[in-house]
Amino acid sequence: MTENLNPFAIAQAQLDEAAKVLQLDPDMHAFLREPMREFHFSIPVRMDDGSTKTFKGFRVQYNDARGPAKGGIRFHPDETIDTVRALSAWMTWKTAVADIPLGGAKGGIICNPRELSQGELERLSRAYMRNIARYVGLFQDCPAPDVNTNPQIMAWMLDEYEILMGHREPGVITGKPLALGGSAGRGPATAMGGMYNIREAAKVLNIDLSSATAAIQGFGNVGSFAHKLITPMFGTKVVAVSDEFGGIYSADGLDFDTVADHLAKTGKVIDCPGTEPISNKDLLELEVDILIPAAIENQLTSKNAHNIKAKLIAELANGPTTPEADDVFNDKGIYIIPDFLCNSGGVTVSYFEMVQNGYQYYWDEDMVNQRLDHKMTKAFHAVHDMAQAKNVDTRVAAYLVAVSRVAEAVRLRGWV
Ligand code: GLU
Repeated sequence: MTENLNPFAIAQAQLDEAAKVLQLDPDMHAFLREPMREFHFSIPVRMDDGSTKTFKGFRVQYNDARGPAKGGIRFHPDETIDTVRALSAWMTWKTAVADIPLGGAKGGIICNPRELSQGELERLSRAYMRNIARYVGLFQDCPAPDVNTNPQIMAWMLDEYEILMGHREPGVITGKPLALGGSAGRGPATAMGGMYNIREAAKVLNIDLSSATAAIQGFGNVGSFAHKLITPMFGTKVVAVSDEFGGIYSADGLDFDTVADHLAKTGKVIDCPGTEPISNKDLLELEVDILIPAAIENQLTSKNAHNIKAKLIAELANGPTTPEADDVFNDKGIYIIPDFLCNSGGVTVSYFEMVQNGYQYYWDEDMVNQRLDHKMTKAFHAVHDMAQAKNVDTRVAAYLVAVSRVAEAVRLRGWV
């Protein structure tokens, strides 16, 4: 049988497995298998050449029982409604496992931002916000950055929303620039949360991080900050990194500043001085202690799982591993920090950003990181302890923790 790579089918299969272990009430299970609300938009945008191009956009509010829905917006040529549905489900489990009082949502636009001018990107971002404006808000649904979106795009969306509403409401969107009410530490937050998870995992696995090696797939906001942080924090050597154009390798370790300078000059990591090229496939299969997928879904599948040699996989991407690959990793005894635990630092600091916006008083980066560390350490051990107690793998354990919390809120509201 060929492997099902539809991310929403995968998200549902993962929930089904957890529901079995939890002996979840079938009515609750049926409710949690589907998004509560979704919005589909056709978005006409005036292009620089005077033509009009129509883009397809989505916002899915998967579940808001625990609080206002929360989740990023992706700009990607391969975006589909099922990808957004899956990502919104994972946001629901993510906010629950991190124990922040929010639900889960996700947005997406089918587009290739590399092919858009800054002006076109701004008009598309503002038009998307005009479409979702009536469905978002501090106590309704709060968007944020994700793949190919950034603080500037959040700033345009915030401005469009505030023009429409006629008042300032900084907490309607997170990942904003600092000058518009962003939080200190939000840029590195997803990677930083991953670092706290890796630190705790290394303790339970007896991995000495100061002599460990790591490979990182993806060099966007998350992957690049993971590279930047892991060596100064733990002494771990990053031997390979990649972006969508290719990878680079150095047995002696890749210096972050050198790679970042080269990327700033050329737009790619390949051909960085002092490194050898490496394919995406070979990067994933390197003999390293820690593998950090930090790109997109479906990177570790039945095709390559048997060849993965890392001891620890820290999933900073959303959905990088298929259920078939999970089975292989379980057999091989590879420890996984599952995506919606490992990358929950981003949304956790987004929540801190909403809190700070709410009382218009801002914390310094040390305070943010201290509070993030506390949340991540608690979340990691809740999942790890659950895995031990129920004798299940860490992904199922993360689902057990998250689904019980969401189900409790649904029950208390009397929905099911
Ligand atoms: N896009 C990030 C994620 O997948 C952050 C979401 C947020 O901050 O709302 O977790």
